Amino acid sequence: MKTVSIVGAGVGGLTAAINLQRAGFAVTIYEQNDHAGGKMDIIEEDGFKFDTGPTIVMMPEIYQKPFVDAGVNPDDYFTMTRVEPIMDVYTQGKKLPLSSDLVTIAREFEPFGEGELHGFLNYLTDIYGKYTIAKKYFIYQSFRSPKDFYNPKTLWHAYQLKTFSSSFSAIQKNIQNTTLQYLLSFQTLYIGISPFSGPSIYNIIPMIELLYGVWFIKGGMYEYAKALTRLFEELGGKIVYQAQVDKIETANRHVTGLRINGSLEQSDAVVTNADFPYAMTDLLVASEADKGKYKQRKVDQLDYSMSCFLLYLGVDRQYQELNLHTIKMADDFAGNVAAIDQGQLPDDPSFYVYYPTALDDSFAPAGQSSLYVLVPVANLKENDDWDAQSTSAFAAKMIDKVAADLDLPDLAEHIVYQQVYTPKTFASRYNSRFGSVFGLKPTLRQSNYFRPHNKHSKIDNLYFAGASVHPGAGVPIVITSGELAAQEVIKDHS
Ligand SMILES: Cc1cc2nc3c(=O)[nH]c(=O)nc-3n(C[C@H](O)[C@H](O)[C@H](O)COP(=O)(O)OP(=O)(O)OC[C@H]3O[C@@H](n4cnc5c(N)ncnc54)[C@H](O)[C@@H]3O)c2cc1C
Repeated sequence: MKTVSIVGAGVGGLTAAINLQRAGFAVTIYEQNDHAGGKMDIIEEDGFKFDTGPTIVMMPEIYQKPFVDAGVNPDDYFTMTRVEPIMDVYTQGKKLPLSSDLVTIAREFEPFGEGELHGFLNYLTDIYGKYTIAKKYFIYQSFRSPKDFYNPKTLWHAYQLKTFSSSFSAIQKNIQNTTLQYLLSFQTLYIGISPFSGPSIYNIIPMIELLYGVWFIKGGMYEYAKALTRLFEELGGKIVYQAQVDKIETANRHVTGLRINGSLEQSDAVVTNADFPYAMTDLLVASEADKGKYKQRKVDQLDYSMSCFLLYLGVDRQYQELNLHTIKMADDFAGNVAAIDQGQLPDDPSFYVYYPTALDDSFAPAGQSSLYVLVPVANLKENDDWDAQSTSAFAAKMIDKVAADLDLPDLAEHIVYQQVYTPKTFASRYNSRFGSVFGLKPTLRQSNYFRPHNKHSKIDNLYFAGASVHPGAGVPIVITSGELAAQEVIKDHS
């Protein structure tokens, strides 16, 4: 039986592992932390529970796919329910419920003018068409050699995506009202890129949200990490926890083993789920020539996505007025995003609040609630000023701001538990380079064929799964990355 070692038990590592174990490989995951899931993580303290990373579930069929492919019923592993309206959005002085029901959307958009609804429908038609192309020819397709991309058919499909303008300008072409423009633009922040500079193809994110809906996993997102872990172990896979991989050793363009606590763990193939730029910088032992396209200088010059500041608050009361997801956009949203890109801490930050207590009473003691506040901030390459003083000052500012902007005036006096994550937490806990929580920034030059591939170009048995490699960040896309990495291993080793 051929063996595969995987570095990291994040969503990408777990899904690669499930696909490989199912295909007949003996798979061992080495995870530095004491549990699986990576950034799909959890805090359980003082009777409160917090999902610490992802919270918005889109594309439920992709969450189910590893289970369906393994011939089991996903419902036996986790339960999803649809969330409608999907969120409340505060923008331009208004609070708007955002629906994923087209009839409701029409009713909500039409008061802004028939032309605006017409423009929205044009926008949807355009981006849906591009999504069908991206899905078929790019997202679910791995690339190995230049001819996989530089051939007339694929180049034609790439041209059809017409992705040279920014997400925001593509919206502006169809919709004139600023409130509606903003309502459709903040979603690129889900993958850590500004709508004002990120490629227009990422308008597929709001499109997917509106056309396919948003879902909630009963018990919280971490239940999904547990479900993947259970499936992998039921298939016979092995996870070694508290096993930090120190080096990926190579000879003659071949991985010879993983150096862990001084010993060398050998296998036929290695998949690294640890963040690609970190793995290339800190783990891979190879000559610059053998590193191929991603030599150290290149890795240092890559663009890195935004990071996040997070507050996890246990509150000894509940707020009936809060729904599961709330977005508060800065009045000057463009200025807010530009400040982040320039490494500044915004004066008037946009923020997101996750309030699972609205749907699920397992997150807090009876009558109390669990609140998660996410603020997009610069990564550590742009700003690493997160010492104890600046962190607690920003936490205090955000508590006041959430209370004022969401009209929860007594919030501060009801906080009985508080935990803070800064970009430094993501760098130290998961080895995300520069604390970029969404991995490499999905610019045009770092998307699609131009994102690091799932197989190393020179080292013949080294593969990659995770947010910084193809197809990109976000749970469903990382699940796909795990599947693509597994397919690459299977191609070479079956
Ligand atoms: C705050 C936040 C909010 C988010 N919100 C959403 C959302 O709402 N919806 C959504 O779809 N996505 C969201 N995301 C993005 C999503 O969580 C990620 O894209 C995805 O979980 C990344 O998975 P991964 O497998 O690429 O990497 P990771 O989760 O980073 O996993 C990598 C694993 O490798 C391990 N590792 C690293 N180095 C080593 C080593 N040397 N030895 C052994 N193990 C190692 C790490 O410990 C980790 O377990 C969010 C992310 C964050 C942080």
